[in-house]
Amino acid sequence: MTHILVTGGAGFIGSHLCDYLIKKGNDVICMDNLFTGRKESIEHLLRTKSLEFIEHDIIEPFFLGHIEQIYNLACPASPIQYQVNAIRTIKANTIGVINVLGLAKKHHARILQASTSEVYGDPLEHPQKESYRGNVNTISRRACYDEGKRVAETLYFDYHRQHGVDIRIARIFNTYGSRMALDDGRVVSNFIVQALRGEDITLYGSGEQTRSFCYVDDLIEGLYKMMEQTEITGPLNLGNPEEYTIRQLALLIKKETKSVSRIVESPLPEDDPVKRKPDISNAKHFLGWDPKTPLLDGLRKTITYFRSVL
Ligand code: UDP
Repeated sequence: MTHILVTGGAGFIGSHLCDYLIKKGNDVICMDNLFTGRKESIEHLLRTKSLEFIEHDIIEPFFLGHIEQIYNLACPASPIQYQVNAIRTIKANTIGVINVLGLAKKHHARILQASTSEVYGDPLEHPQKESYRGNVNTISRRACYDEGKRVAETLYFDYHRQHGVDIRIARIFNTYGSRMALDDGRVVSNFIVQALRGEDITLYGSGEQTRSFCYVDDLIEGLYKMMEQTEITGPLNLGNPEEYTIRQLALLIKKETKSVSRIVESPLPEDDPVKRKPDISNAKHFLGWDPKTPLLDGLRKTITYFRSVL
């Protein structure tokens, strides 16, 4: 049994990770400030003795007892949410990251950072390998997240070089599945909710921009494997390399939900990346990891989830 801290543990990915770690027989402390995370997502785990919930923002200093591993997922991750309070988003990725790295140093704990494909910005290399250094606009509305996550990676490596902290960095690409918030603003949840309610499906821009969508169960396995192996620190891409235009996604969701919704174009947000697709050769090689869930299968499960909560 390992004593594990999951920050952002009541969020979409965090709550699935807590489920997985507890199923593996670990003791989990789930820390969340509940800004985007929701207690309902971990309610079923609160009844077990294996999970302790602490409502806390990692921006504020904190101390804990014995910890062997830390997964740092604490940061709002959807563009709408991380722009609500941009300065707070930067604080989570700087002050908050320094706090969790300090904790890892104190406890000699291994620490995994949930980094992001956003570190590549609007990429000029396609697909994106980990060696690609990115194309980020430092002054855009997305920069609080993109640049925040970039400096977080820098902090991890500085703590690693200067203090010998045992780090792992996973760059997570677009992920979807159950427990995404209805009003999260991300494309998969928006389209499914709009389609099920018969509202207009809002295609930002022409819908020709692409993304590659990873089903949450696949991602969780990747995160776990990344944490458990001892060969590499990363950064390592985790995502599903199947690439779709956003228009294709809208059509697929409309068809699968048998929706009467219209697909309407609306303004494209500032600095919206034109394309995104991970090169996952390193994840395949070092982790033996490959996402198993095709988009259609994952979407069907996600649609079933949203039907149950609407
Ligand atoms: N998008 C869209 N309609 C929506 C929400 C998002 O067309 O209702 C587009 C968005 O402009 C982007 C893509 O879908 O090109 C993915 O957006 P999301 O916010 O899910 O994540 P991102 O990859 O941009 O962080």
